[in-house]
Amino acid sequence: MNIILMGPPGAGKGTQAELIKAAYPIPHISTGDMFRAAVGQGTELGKEAKKYMDSGKLVPDEVTIGIVEERLAQPDCATGFLLDGFPRTTGQAQALDKVLEKQNKKIEAAISISVPDEIIIERMSGRVSCKECKAVYNIKFNPSIKAGICDKCGGELFQRSDDNIETVSNRLAVYKEQTNPLLSYYQKQNVLHEVNGNRDASEVFKDIKKLLERF
Ligand code: ADP
Ligand code: ADP
Ligand code: ZN
Repeated sequence: MNIILMGPPGAGKGTQAELIKAAYPIPHISTGDMFRAAVGQGTELGKEAKKYMDSGKLVPDEVTIGIVEERLAQPDCATGFLLDGFPRTTGQAQALDKVLEKQNKKIEAAISISVPDEIIIERMSGRVSCKECKAVYNIKFNPSIKAGICDKCGGELFQRSDDNIETVSNRLAVYKEQTNPLLSYYQKQNVLHEVNGNRDASEVFKDIKKLLERF
């Protein structure tokens, strides 16, 4: 099962990825999580990525493609993977196809979660994530039982520094300009599925599950 989760920032990719992971044993590959881990560790990759992330720009393709290629070569990806937040440019999509072709694989479903801009802005202002297990919550729509503490692991919840209104607006503009064209890229490959993300997360997941049952 080789799957891509697409959608603007705040569409619910991470939230749906958690639900998919719990139902299907495939690795969840989030380029955003990988970059944040590198920033946290202070590696060269992290220092490079931070320059772009802080302003809501995309990390350059050559850097991003490199880390994904390395990740997909790990043995746990042999029977499938769930890509979250990659590809985000046509260059990334083409590079991904090339990598997969070498391994005799292809993308089986590109699931695009759509949500109106005003809902995204509202969701982003309330997003908090667990420092330990990366679980995502929302102080308004999906609060943890105990404020500031992760229900799943007891870890501390924090707000991402790039979830401020200015950076979110930049990320939305970048999405429209650079990532939206990918919808027709996957449409042409006959693997695109659009899902209405402006509903309860469990309703969205029901639709995704129906799609995935085919594989
Ligand atoms: P969101 O979940 O809000 O869409 P992510 O966690 O996926 O955000 O990404 C956070 C930031 O990491 C992006 O704004 C961008 O700077 C960088 N990033 C993540 N994935 C990619 C990618 N595929 N290509 C380039 N930059 C990326
Ligand atoms: P993405 O990975 O696409 O950036 P997230 O999964 O991190 O999106 O979700 C963004 C914010 O919106 C989080 O605070 C999350 O709890 C909340 N959220 C996710 N899905 C829904 C939904 N269906 N309804 C309401 N809030 C949601
Ligand atoms: Zn946690």
